[in-house]
Amino acid sequence: MYKMPICRNCASDDLELVLDLGLQPWGNHFVPVAQAADTPKYPLQLLVCKECWMTQVGHTVPKEIMFVEHGYLTGTTRSIKAHFKQVADEIIAQTQFQPGDYVLDIGGNDGTFLQQIKPHGIDVLNIDSGKLQAQRSQEAGIPCLNAFFDEQSAAKLLAQKGPARIVHGANVLFHVEALHSVFSGIKNIMATDGRLVAEFVYLPIILQNNTFDQIYHEHLLYYTLHSFQRLLASHDMKLVDVRMAPVHGGSCIAYAAHAQEAVEPSQRLTDMLAEEKHMGVEDMAIYTDFPQRVAAVRAEILRIIDELKAEGKSIQALGAPVKGSTIINYCGLDVDRIDCAVEVNELKVGTYVPGTKIQVHHQDHTPAPDVYLMLAWNFKDEILQKLSGFREQGGQFIIPFPTPHLI
Ligand SMILES: [Zn+2]
Repeated sequence: MYKMPICRNCASDDLELVLDLGLQPWGNHFVPVAQAADTPKYPLQLLVCKECWMTQVGHTVPKEIMFVEHGYLTGTTRSIKAHFKQVADEIIAQTQFQPGDYVLDIGGNDGTFLQQIKPHGIDVLNIDSGKLQAQRSQEAGIPCLNAFFDEQSAAKLLAQKGPARIVHGANVLFHVEALHSVFSGIKNIMATDGRLVAEFVYLPIILQNNTFDQIYHEHLLYYTLHSFQRLLASHDMKLVDVRMAPVHGGSCIAYAAHAQEAVEPSQRLTDMLAEEKHMGVEDMAIYTDFPQRVAAVRAEILRIIDELKAEGKSIQALGAPVKGSTIINYCGLDVDRIDCAVEVNELKVGTYVPGTKIQVHHQDHTPAPDVYLMLAWNFKDEILQKLSGFREQGGQFIIPFPTPHLI
């Protein structure tokens, strides 16, 4: 029986539907069988709670399915490494590290972020639920506990290693099913003068750029500073600073402290909160037209593709990121329009894009098509640079956002 969702943050049942992306498979369900089109599908709906204004997806694919065996490795992307170096340098510059201090990375994947901290002589610890990710982290010299971070694992770590001076979580704190257990764990393990450094995709930018592909089952929550602040406050913590970074199409790097610490919010935090008020983030106003704009993006992607097909052009999906699964499934793309997807991540080669018969081939061993549909548009600059030769020979790209266009 279908269970009506309740708010992940405040348990209210006053949730309003913002956007319905239909039934979709878990977007990272890349399996090496031709029956991939038969993978289970779940409702993919964006909802907002009218009690606490937390934006979220309704359906929960269990975390044991999504985050134990998966093929996402942070270190495969150059621009992510560069981004992490910048955040690490910022943390090093702002923190007076003392002997015994350490940096804890929640969901630190293959250790890419902590590799930017360790050379400064600072102790580090990664905790990641992914088996492969934990193994790669260890191999890279970054100690990793292969477990989910929550109140229980935090208590264990605290007993063994003491409080963490910095708790870092990049693209993980909006994936958490056990939301309050995770934030309670952060509260408990963070040193008195410690900082939580949280990186998350910023909801107002998703809305502004029509990037509905950021909505997938792994992304359970979509924060504004207001909703994140409220979540922190319920665990006796507060925001102290924030900055925007271009990574993942527009992310917030938010700094939080214990509520008791006498530290004033930075000017840029105050400014961004005021800007959010102006946008109407605690009002349905911010969602006005979003479903219409998303539907228009789909119609335009299909129009461009069908026009290219009519001209006899071949089209491949470039990259097979999880967000690409949202675009492909929502637009109903399959092998009649897209020849294949190409990837450099070996773990995905030989699989199928979830919910379709589109096969994933190795990019280096596949002849280039006439046109690439750029699914990993958040790495556009890196990709265009890498494929400059393809463009010089007349190759084109479909860029899906903010309005689909050919370049
Ligand atoms: Zn709520």
